[in-house]
Amino acid sequence: MNEAPAPASPVVPTALEGSAALRFRCRKGIACWNACCSNIDIALTPVDVVRLKQRLNLASWEFLREYTVPYEMEKDGLAGVKLKPVQGGTACRFMTPEGCAVYADRPTACRYYPVALLAMRRQGEAFDRQAYAVVREDHCLGHAEPRTQTIDEYRGEQGVVPFDEAARGWRQLILKKKSSGPTIGKPSRRSLELFFMASYDVDRFRSFVASDAFGALFDLPPEALREALEDDLALLRFGWRFLAQVLFGETTIALRSEGVGQRRARVAEQRARLEREAAERLAREDDEGGAFVDL
Ligand code: SF4
Ligand code: SF4
Repeated sequence: MNEAPAPASPVVPTALEGSAALRFRCRKGIACWNACCSNIDIALTPVDVVRLKQRLNLASWEFLREYTVPYEMEKDGLAGVKLKPVQGGTACRFMTPEGCAVYADRPTACRYYPVALLAMRRQGEAFDRQAYAVVREDHCLGHAEPRTQTIDEYRGEQGVVPFDEAARGWRQLILKKKSSGPTIGKPSRRSLELFFMASYDVDRFRSFVASDAFGALFDLPPEALREALEDDLALLRFGWRFLAQVLFGETTIALRSEGVGQRRARVAEQRARLEREAAERLAREDDEGGAFVDL
């Protein structure tokens, strides 16, 4: 028997502490085996993408193309990615009769289920808090199993803690974006592209960071650059610093003054060219207009 009556919504809207009791057990042989993986809606964190693309030995862009679909995390805002189900169906492509084919690298949301992570930031606070909600879906019989532990114990058992720790900087970015005012709340298209690349397309981001153009603009100590380029998770962490700079102007990566100067010069040159072209166009129109008056 469930400890609480099933509500109309599958998510119990009560924010729970990690010390709250969770009665639940999933085991092979249970009558609902694989029911949860047959109809998926699984958002991936950047850490999930790295773990899965490493597991499948794919470049990040290959993984994104083959195994994910994009979605809007918020209207006109940051994009996220979800696992793509089997073609023409709703089941996860990693589901097998024995269970999850990528179990050791399964996504954060799969590890948490039937718990949902609620990352929250209170007004005026500079840090996020983690709270949890319990998801009770009719098809899931694990809530009737005779096993109770705390949510924190369950998180430990499911190996979710390192995933949460590694993705913390990314969650903080999203919380900050969601709670920011209209100016920051509407980033440019280029900023949104950079967000997607640094969050999910880590191998493309690596090429970007290693490029001469990046080096001309940012003054990164060689050791920090080497660490970021050699390790996917270190590159993600660097990416969140980079995005905080792009989205919120939090300058933690030094700019090269000559790089900035060159960029300004390029922009000024572009502007001068556009003004020159506009003046030439006006002059041509004046000439044509003069001919018309003469007639
Ligand atoms: S990744 Fe594994 S656990 Fe997650 S939905 Fe797919 S089969 Fe299920
Ligand atoms: S008990 Fe719940 S989580 Fe486990 S297989 Fe059944 S539906 Fe999935």
